Amino acid sequence: MVERNERKNSQNKKNGLKKSSSSNMFRSVLFFIVIFLFGYALVLSFAPRTSVEEVALSSVIARANDENGDIKKITVSGNDLNITLKGKEQPTEHSYKDGSGTLYDLGLVNRCAELSGDELKSCLEKYPVIEYVEPVNYTDIILNVLTLGLPVVAIIVFFAYMMRQAQSMNKENLGFGKAKAKLYGPDKKKVTFSDVAGNEAAKQDLEEIVDFLKNPKKYENLGAKIPRGVLLAGDPGTGKTLMARAVAGEADVPFFSISGSEFAEMFVGVGASRVRDLFSKAKKNAPSIIFIDEIDAVAHKRDARGGAGREDEQTLNQILVEMDGFDNESGVIVMAATNRVDMLDKALLRPGRFDRHVDVALPERKDRLAILKVHFKKKPLEEDVNLDDLAKKTAGSSGADLANIANEAAITAAREGHKTITRDDVTEAFERVAIGPKRQSKVMNDYEKKLTAYHEAGHAIVGHVLPDSDPVHKVTIIPRGHTGGVTWFLPPEDRSYKNVYELKDILARAMGGRIAEKIVFGNDNITTGASSDLKNVAQLAKEMIVEEGMGSDNRNIVYPEESTGYYTISTGKPYSEKTAELIDKEIKTLSDEAAKRAEAVLKENREVLDRLANALLERETLEEEELPALLKGTTLPEGAKLHS
Ligand code: ADP
Ligand code: MG
Ligand code: ZN
Repeated sequence: MVERNERKNSQNKKNGLKKSSSSNMFRSVLFFIVIFLFGYALVLSFAPRTSVEEVALSSVIARANDENGDIKKITVSGNDLNITLKGKEQPTEHSYKDGSGTLYDLGLVNRCAELSGDELKSCLEKYPVIEYVEPVNYTDIILNVLTLGLPVVAIIVFFAYMMRQAQSMNKENLGFGKAKAKLYGPDKKKVTFSDVAGNEAAKQDLEEIVDFLKNPKKYENLGAKIPRGVLLAGDPGTGKTLMARAVAGEADVPFFSISGSEFAEMFVGVGASRVRDLFSKAKKNAPSIIFIDEIDAVAHKRDARGGAGREDEQTLNQILVEMDGFDNESGVIVMAATNRVDMLDKALLRPGRFDRHVDVALPERKDRLAILKVHFKKKPLEEDVNLDDLAKKTAGSSGADLANIANEAAITAAREGHKTITRDDVTEAFERVAIGPKRQSKVMNDYEKKLTAYHEAGHAIVGHVLPDSDPVHKVTIIPRGHTGGVTWFLPPEDRSYKNVYELKDILARAMGGRIAEKIVFGNDNITTGASSDLKNVAQLAKEMIVEEGMGSDNRNIVYPEESTGYYTISTGKPYSEKTAELIDKEIKTLSDEAAKRAEAVLKENREVLDRLANALLERETLEEEELPALLKGTTLPEGAKLHS
């Protein structure tokens, strides 16, 4: 929502790019005048060609009847007299009969003056110099023009309307084939580096870019080449777009921004011309910045199976052509952002193109705290809300996730009628963002409740007992999102790597739910409640084998999947059928082992399982503080041990 409003602002305030609506009005009035003149000219072209000189009829008739006179012929058509002089082929003079007919006051013509139509015709035929022609029927002409012309006019008007519609839709009056680029003008609400929390390394890189633009001499004097292309790469929601806008806010240069996905909406052939237009505008306004957000949408690998669409390929080629066309003094820096560097066409990454990479990483704990502080800044928090605690719990979350939690917390507080945001509001927001909203409406019967309690208790106990698992943070049988209940494990600190024992413990504790159901209710009464657990097991086990080289027979070998591009249908695996069978066998070995370990733990700790399940039935949610007492007395059986 916020994002949207800001956008609208930026478009309305865009200096010089947007014509005012009054000039728009002027244009449509002009348009209709042109149409009108066009129609008028059409009517005139049907009318007999005439000169405008008026001649008194008396003299005309006299001259016409005089053998030595200069008049060869008079043509009468309706009330018009066209006079052809001797030696001329076409009538050169013109007269007309006025309404009262007084022009016919003399001589020969007089007798015909009161007549019209056929009678006039035959009357005039008696006079050799006077020729009668059918009068032009203007009503017919106008009718013709209307019937023929109206559809044409209608079509023109329709197209004009559509064009205006299309323009007003993107709030840009730049026309087809023109870049829909947004120019962040100086009066737009500025984003600066201070709005970007954490990510110091990336910010430093970008500050350097800003410096290039502000003081190019400093670098040129030392013979340094100013970079042409800067690629921001990182997970979704890590603040790439935000940082690009901060660069725009900090560098006092025009900033042209377009999103790769916008190219997809365009008509065939328009993408490339927009790129051309965008670059030429940027060059005209140099020093300036071009920002292509989500560039992967157009610049994905051309050779990926299935290939890029022809349209995208043209757009990409145009980007490459434009970047190659820069000379060092052009003063234009092209920035781009992507979630998927691996998907990008290699040609883009070559020297002279996007040769500078800025990695935007998921925030660490202290950065998460900084981001939370930014987003809770204008929100009234109760004293006991501990943002550091929230930062600790949110390992793996992106800046966008954290912004989302802050917003959800405010919404929750408002929904609950709180004046300030409470600790519970924040917790609810965190869980809502992580898993989904609570489903108060879902009713469980007593049997289902009991089953869920044992299932979650199973996860919790296996996780608690196994030595390399993260500690249990919370267990609940209140449905949320798509789950019937949740058991949360939270790592005590941020870590980048997990070892094979930790992964195996994750597999076993994921199996814990299904195994607890089996132990308590019997093998025939297992339910669909474990399907997502089993999916997770299959997924993780496969990753361990195929990507991490953690198989028992296939240790240290990985089997990369063919990278699947956009629009790509993966048709095959880059390994043999025999290898595929081996991989399947390894996956089965891992999940069998996990089930066996979970079973060993739960059988060994059956009393704790009952105690925890009953506590859950009674209290529905068990917090970190309540768990140690309930989990007391658990032991690790020999059958679940992997190492000493
Ligand atoms: P990306 O473009 O990398 O997908 P965005 O820049 O669109 O991510 O980030 C989405 C939102 O998340 C931002 O508008 C901002 O509210 C929040 N956000 C992300 N990273 C940060 C950060 N480092 N500091 C403050 N807010 C952030
Ligand atoms: Mg983005
Ligand atoms: Zn489960």
